[in-house]
Amino acid sequence: MYSYRHAFHAGNHADVLKHTMLVAILRHLALKDTPLVAVDTHAGAGLYRLDGEYAGTSGEAQDGILKLAPALRALENVAPALADYVSVVASFNKKGQWKVYPGSPFVVHELLREGGRDRLKLFEMHPTDAKALAGHVAQMEAGREVAVARTDGFESLKAFLPPPSRRALVLIDPSYEIKSDYAKVTACIQDCLKRFPTGVYVVWYPIIPRPEAHELPRRLKTITNNAGKPWLHATLSIGHVAHQPGEGNQPQGLTASGMFVVNPPHTLKPAMQAALPQMVDILGRGRGKGHVLESS
Ligand code: SAM
Repeated sequence: MYSYRHAFHAGNHADVLKHTMLVAILRHLALKDTPLVAVDTHAGAGLYRLDGEYAGTSGEAQDGILKLAPALRALENVAPALADYVSVVASFNKKGQWKVYPGSPFVVHELLREGGRDRLKLFEMHPTDAKALAGHVAQMEAGREVAVARTDGFESLKAFLPPPSRRALVLIDPSYEIKSDYAKVTACIQDCLKRFPTGVYVVWYPIIPRPEAHELPRRLKTITNNAGKPWLHATLSIGHVAHQPGEGNQPQGLTASGMFVVNPPHTLKPAMQAALPQMVDILGRGRGKGHVLESS
């Protein structure tokens, strides 16, 4: 049932958008002393090799972090959010090498405060990835503040809301392999806003020609507006490369994705106003490239 493996996609343009925004959100949340509970409902394997078999087969990181990082070096005024994201990824690598890519569990972990006051709850259903994730967490000696479970993230999340400290960041990042994931995401946000209206909820979604994908941000806006909470919506599209004669109309994989944030920190919009145009300039490659940034 679970055939999606994030290892094929690690470090692609969608991860660049998702993890840049995660870093920017967490930087702000970490400014306040009160303990934070972070929940990653769809965690993946946590760490990926960019020079390994999976990433090598798909080559997706070539249109993501591996294109972004060197291009930023040549830029005079790098958007702080992009510089911050790239430095987080770099911290998992030897200087000048880009062999390891941290997935959301380790991007989040990197930004949690030392001393064990913050907590990180990770859920992953794929048997191989759940095992790999548990291994990576153990290997990183992440400590007692990180918990991994091979259970359904949508359901497991409920037990942590509201958190005792009344501060939570939740990343909901399903693979959308199954059509019902779209409806689960909206139901989940609706439920979260009832349980804990002031949590920061972050949803990633693919922009693909499918009615459910198209409808998702619209539905999330309605739910969030009805709850009287602020939101921010950002998309990144790298566009399609022109087909060479004789190539036919080969599908080009995922070319765009979006992030919907409920209760965004006030610093997120200016951070993305600076970062998104640079992402498009560097990662954009043809027809349809661009970004959207809107908020309530
Ligand atoms: N959040 C990760 C990151 O940014 O590095 C990537 C996650 S990947 C897009 C989605 C993951 O969700 C897959 O590894 C898949 O096995 C897992 N998954 C699918 N359904 C799930 C569920 N109901 N609960 C928890 N994990 C699930």
